[in-house]
Amino acid sequence: MSQKVRVRFAPSPTGPLHIGGLRTALFNYLFAKKNGGDFILRIEDTDQNRFVDGAEQYIIEALNWCGISFDEGPDKEGAVGSYRQSERKDLYKNYALELIEKGKAYYAFDTAETLDYHRKDHESKGKTFIYNWHNRLKLTNSLSLSKKQVADKLNAGEPYVIRFKSPENEEIHLNDIIRGQISIDSSTLDDKVLFKSDGMPTYHLANIVDDHLMKITHVIRGEEWLPSLALHNLLYNAFGWDTPEFAHLPLIMKPVGKGKLSKRDGEKGGFPVFPLTWNQSEGYREAGFFPEAVVNFLALLGWNPGTEQEIFSLEELVNTFSLERVNKSGARFDPEKNNWYNQQWLQKKSNDDLAALFASDLEKRNISSTKEYTTQVVSLIKERATFAKDFWELGDYFFQAPQSYNEKAVKKQWKEGTPKIMAAIVEVLQNITDFDSPIIEEAVKGWIAEQELSFGKVMPPLRLVLVGDMKGPHIFDIMHLIGKKESVNRIETAIAQL
Ligand code: GLU
Repeated sequence: MSQKVRVRFAPSPTGPLHIGGLRTALFNYLFAKKNGGDFILRIEDTDQNRFVDGAEQYIIEALNWCGISFDEGPDKEGAVGSYRQSERKDLYKNYALELIEKGKAYYAFDTAETLDYHRKDHESKGKTFIYNWHNRLKLTNSLSLSKKQVADKLNAGEPYVIRFKSPENEEIHLNDIIRGQISIDSSTLDDKVLFKSDGMPTYHLANIVDDHLMKITHVIRGEEWLPSLALHNLLYNAFGWDTPEFAHLPLIMKPVGKGKLSKRDGEKGGFPVFPLTWNQSEGYREAGFFPEAVVNFLALLGWNPGTEQEIFSLEELVNTFSLERVNKSGARFDPEKNNWYNQQWLQKKSNDDLAALFASDLEKRNISSTKEYTTQVVSLIKERATFAKDFWELGDYFFQAPQSYNEKAVKKQWKEGTPKIMAAIVEVLQNITDFDSPIIEEAVKGWIAEQELSFGKVMPPLRLVLVGDMKGPHIFDIMHLIGKKESVNRIETAIAQL
């Protein structure tokens, strides 16, 4: 039997989850569910300096909002918890010591000042200082010092770090599901710190140890981690552990120009880059996006189904997703297209659901309406809406008589003979007993034909006086909804005012 697929999303709680991080979580989730596997959330909080209060809750709330549910994670303990690295901190040191034992790592006692001196010295000569095979024997560590010197330093409580001893001259062959074969010359690698003087592991050590202990089979993460792949591979080999498979996702690029999408792009372009609001930055949720739309556009950032289909539910994505169809090159972020996705998802919502959203907006505006009426309005105007917050702008006239009339339209539509025509329409309306859209339509159109008038002389001004503008759905549907009395009132008010 093949091994059960287990993947993890491993954010550091250093701030809000960026939309790129959310996509990483989504792709992990899709891959896990497609393959009947587990999706794990692990909080990588070993860097106490960068810890931000509330970030972990934010991450969880964002995942929940999108319906990306994890099988194991903080407060959802599985067999391999805890799922917060800070709560696992005691276990990492032994692994670092194990590597020292195996001759794969070493203690380094160099002070920050010494390292700084070397860095600056190299810089002044136009070189870069790399702590590795090239110079490690000239530095203060357990490779250059005698056993006794090392023991003395440790006994004296001198601060140290534990560094990985990267091989001097090895061709490292790596495989990435998305990028294929990659070769790295080990002599270019530095001896990364695995364990810090504050008693905490670095990202590299904790990440590998946890992926191993949590039985992760596939590591799916952002492209920015590709440079760490060689080291991670070496670490797995050093421990003698099976290496998981790796897939590095393409970057999400700015809407225009070069480089990856940043918070500033969102500020400049007026679109969110976070799923939920964080401090002053509005999130997709608060901007009125449906989670389905966010999931949908995120999925297509860097992945394609190989067909023309663009609208996918989370479930459809699970069925269709494969890492093989993830692109190598960066995925351009397109805020306009994101709006389009929301517009599409809005059309898929039931009128009842949309009416509930509209109702809370109406309430804020002190407009009273019945559920039934709001639902009918929504059914007429939703076609043109991208967000539920557009409803008011699209359909305010269903709830109140026009406060003013579009001036341009008045100039164009309100002619000398118009008041007389409108007065006649009032009569026509008064004579209708069953005020239903098709009946009104028949009556009004019949009257127009009888008078041998053109539609253009009657219908546009009629819309103008009922709506205040030239917008809106079928005019007879509007009349039916606002009712006979209100329709007549609006026409009479306009006759008196215009
Ligand atoms: N903690 C890392 C991050 O913040 C995780 C990288 C990985 O998935 O290996 O992105």
